[in-house]
Amino acid sequence: MAAVQQRLAQLEQKLSFQPQSGLPTHFRLELEIEEFLEQFSRLPDGSDNKLQGFTVLILQLGPTYSMVRKTLRASISEWILYQTGCRIAALLTDRDRVFHTREDEFVLLLPEKKGSALKSFLQSLHASLAAPHGFTGFSVSVPVTSGASYYPDHGRTRSELLHHADLAVSAAKDRRKPFVLFQPSIRETVVERMELQNSILKAIEAPALHQLGEQFCLLYQPKLFVSSIHDGKLQISRVEAEALMRWNHPTKGLVSPTQFIPIAEESGLIEPLGKWLVYACASLVNDWAETGHRDIGLSVNLSPRQFRSSSILQTFESVLASTGTGANRLTVELTETSLFEDINSTTRILERFAALGLRVSVDDFGSGYSSLSHLHRFPLDEIKVDRLFVEHIRTNKHDRVIVRSLVNMAADLGFDLIAEGVEDSDSLQILYDMGCLGFQGFILSEPLSEAEFLRFHDDIVANGMVMQLP
Ligand code: C2E
Ligand code: MG
Ligand code: MG
Repeated sequence: MAAVQQRLAQLEQKLSFQPQSGLPTHFRLELEIEEFLEQFSRLPDGSDNKLQGFTVLILQLGPTYSMVRKTLRASISEWILYQTGCRIAALLTDRDRVFHTREDEFVLLLPEKKGSALKSFLQSLHASLAAPHGFTGFSVSVPVTSGASYYPDHGRTRSELLHHADLAVSAAKDRRKPFVLFQPSIRETVVERMELQNSILKAIEAPALHQLGEQFCLLYQPKLFVSSIHDGKLQISRVEAEALMRWNHPTKGLVSPTQFIPIAEESGLIEPLGKWLVYACASLVNDWAETGHRDIGLSVNLSPRQFRSSSILQTFESVLASTGTGANRLTVELTETSLFEDINSTTRILERFAALGLRVSVDDFGSGYSSLSHLHRFPLDEIKVDRLFVEHIRTNKHDRVIVRSLVNMAADLGFDLIAEGVEDSDSLQILYDMGCLGFQGFILSEPLSEAEFLRFHDDIVANGMVMQLP
């Protein structure tokens, strides 16, 4: 019996403290938050005791932490966790409590901290946590995001307070802010997201795969390759299109992919949607070939989760086999995040894409964390320079330096280079003068319906492959 009790005590000890930081865990948080509730609920309403309430603060380490954990020695991420715990503890009073609840998450219980007191505490906390962690030869900063709820204003139970602080952290991430205090409107936003998610679920579940086209549709934005420019006349060497999805929501009208793709990703609904997309695009390219548009290439966007899903290769294989579409007329657009998440498996998947004959493009290049030195390892065909660098190319010297080096790098590696989001003819000329030959953006055309796109293509062909800029 004594041995059993000893083992139970050991187990409790293990569950109670996080080995890396030495701080109490979630297990202790649950007990102690109940104690706080018990203590504060006993205070009479309206008492002017300053200890009427307490703040529950959730603090999450930013994506830099998971990058460090995946790419550097374990001792480095462990040291960061330990240091984070120490830095937090150094700012607490005797009555404050800190818990290390998940690898990248800390929870603080802060009596007496509300309003301006909480604000100045947060300023010191964020400044202290953002300071770099020094190692031999390098240093890393790990910014954090935090969200808080306050007892009794935002909840009277443990689960309410934690849930609301958690929603506040999500809101802070969405808004790219370091801290957000819970407000009821945050819950409404989440409810709206859930409603959107439910209706995507309905849209996808209800019909058979080929009927998804009744709810989701595609627009096609021209992507042009230019061989020369004279007096605003572009000599075009190749016309392609990028398929951009729209959701024809029964009551909200056309919903942008930036709204529904993240929700579809989170919920896993992106998989059937991706299958439909690949079928739709491959069939379309096939139809175009049959109606005399054999030379038009089409790009398909894959989200990070679609790229990593085990079924995507099978989908391409079976779609290409059943439609008879030439794979080389399809380009798969992947984001930098997809590529650099796990370099070894990325290489394996890309080699299989290449074996199928698909072209591969890196979308929004420059907006992520990727290091150029890894790029040559991947079998790629195209790079699309993010709109961020193109937007201010006329006025921003720094952007020009970056784009010029991307143009040179793409030439060295033999990749096509596309400038995205080109909106005016001066920018297009500057990019062309730097050696960029691929363009997409409102200056050439907005995304079009299929019929409009084919008309756009046919007009260029009829005009001797020349397009006059507006
Ligand atoms: P993206 O792949 O980088 O697509 C380009 C986006 O930039 C499109 O927005 C397009 O309408 C917009 N755009 C094009 N030219 C210009 C310009 O000159 N100026 C400005 N300001 N914007 C321009 P859209 O259609 O809203 O798509 C947004 C993102 O949603 C896409 O970015 C892509 O990442 C994602 N997406 C779109 N369709 C799909 C899809 O079928 N599957 C997946 N997984 N993602 C998709
Ligand atoms: Mg794209
Ligand atoms: Mg893009």
